[in-house]
Amino acid sequence: MPRYDFDLFTIGAGSGGVAGSRRAGSYGARVAICEESRVGGTCVLRGCVPKKLLVYGAQFSDAFADAAGFGWTVSPPSFDWPSLIAAKNKELDRLEQIYRTMLKNSNVELIEGRAIITDAHTVEVAGRTYTADKIMIATGGHPTVPDIPGIEHVISSNEALDLPELPRRIVIVGGGYIAVEFAGIFRGFGSEVVEIIRREDLLYGFDDDLRVALAQEMRNRGIEIRARTQIARIEKCDIGYSVFTTHGQEISADLVMYATGRKPNTHGLGLTEIGVEMNQDGAVLVDEWQRTTVPNIYAVGDVTDRLNLTPVAIAEARAIAETLFNDNPVKMDHADVPTAVFSNPPIGTVGLTEEEARREYREIDVYSARFRPMKNTLSGRDERTLMKIIVDADSDRVVGCHMLGPDAPEIVQGLAIAIKCGATKKQFDQTVGIHPSAAEEFVTMREKAVRPTKLAAD
Ligand code: NDP
Repeated sequence: MPRYDFDLFTIGAGSGGVAGSRRAGSYGARVAICEESRVGGTCVLRGCVPKKLLVYGAQFSDAFADAAGFGWTVSPPSFDWPSLIAAKNKELDRLEQIYRTMLKNSNVELIEGRAIITDAHTVEVAGRTYTADKIMIATGGHPTVPDIPGIEHVISSNEALDLPELPRRIVIVGGGYIAVEFAGIFRGFGSEVVEIIRREDLLYGFDDDLRVALAQEMRNRGIEIRARTQIARIEKCDIGYSVFTTHGQEISADLVMYATGRKPNTHGLGLTEIGVEMNQDGAVLVDEWQRTTVPNIYAVGDVTDRLNLTPVAIAEARAIAETLFNDNPVKMDHADVPTAVFSNPPIGTVGLTEEEARREYREIDVYSARFRPMKNTLSGRDERTLMKIIVDADSDRVVGCHMLGPDAPEIVQGLAIAIKCGATKKQFDQTVGIHPSAAEEFVTMREKAVRPTKLAAD
């Protein structure tokens, strides 16, 4: 008779939880996964996937506008928001079913309800008690907003993905991934967008040249970015909302969206009671094996609030399954994780920013290219692509690649492999380009930036 009901009990059926559970199941472990909402988690249901579908939808406005330069006559296109939302929801339903089927086929038992951990080996869900040798916490995070008067009127990205109608005027607060992505989405569909950021530039932590260039391109597209601005209060009025800044300005909008960060879902899980330590933001503390301060309890993904990216959560969870159930100890490597921002135009980035590299290395070389993509010559679109390569001058190793422009996420994924392999600038130079493409710039940049570009936007 086994000592516990399950070898692994996973809490949270998002990308990390599902991937780790399935991997454990494939090695013969007896696995349960518990979910209080729909199967799929933030990425599939409230984040990456629906967001990207809306990004695709929004990009058609560019295609219609650009077509004339290539000889097309396009009568003014019309757009129906409810049709797009319905199509997106249908796709999410399909994906949820696929997730459920994958769990079943991997012999992972799905338990629906809210889990509370009552001791190191016991979980309660909907009045039933389950025991497990190991527990994996993969409960993700949720949007947070500051406590200001009128904050009850605002929406988060969760609601933005499911609006009954497209707002004519929207104020978006925040300068992170979610804010810039939704600014691009709503602008693409024709909304008037005002983005409010409290710093001088968007996307703190990204390469400064990209931050500045993205803001320029967003402004060119008609997005109003108000920098160094904070919101004092929000009032509901007859025709929407009035947003008052701390400088005393008033902005009118049909909708106010906050994208001011996310917090880990740890409240009410029973973690403090059983000795799982968390930081002051409620993120679960883990060691390099993803182990919490209770040795048989593990945590992955956004609930640990480190690199909050779907592929990272998946890799962390699979590392646990390999270590525990395949006699193959794997530590997650968080170095050189590539990431993308699906702004318009998008960003792809991997490795160190120029500023980080300057701090880390004795001397660096910076190569950069700013050019008009070939498509824009005929379309007439006034938008430029930016690419940067950062090199450690002593070893010649490429330590960072950054791009703002069409297809940046697709291009940078391949470069991430080169960086992970320790490629040198010489090896980049020896690589033959694909012509004509934008990507070939990454292997043809020869001129070092004469003057170091501006450091630290703020
Ligand atoms: P981020 O942490 O990326 O950005 C939060 C933004 O809100 C920052 O600009 C921050 O400013 C600002 N902010 C925070 N508090 C306040 C406040 N009180 N008043 C005004 N502004 C404030 O969070 P997001 O919500 O955009 O995204 C959460 C996470 O989700 C990301 O970090 C990312 O890991 C993940 N994600 C990844 C995506 C992708 O891979 N493409 C897409 C979407 C999300 P400041 O810089 O001054 O702190």
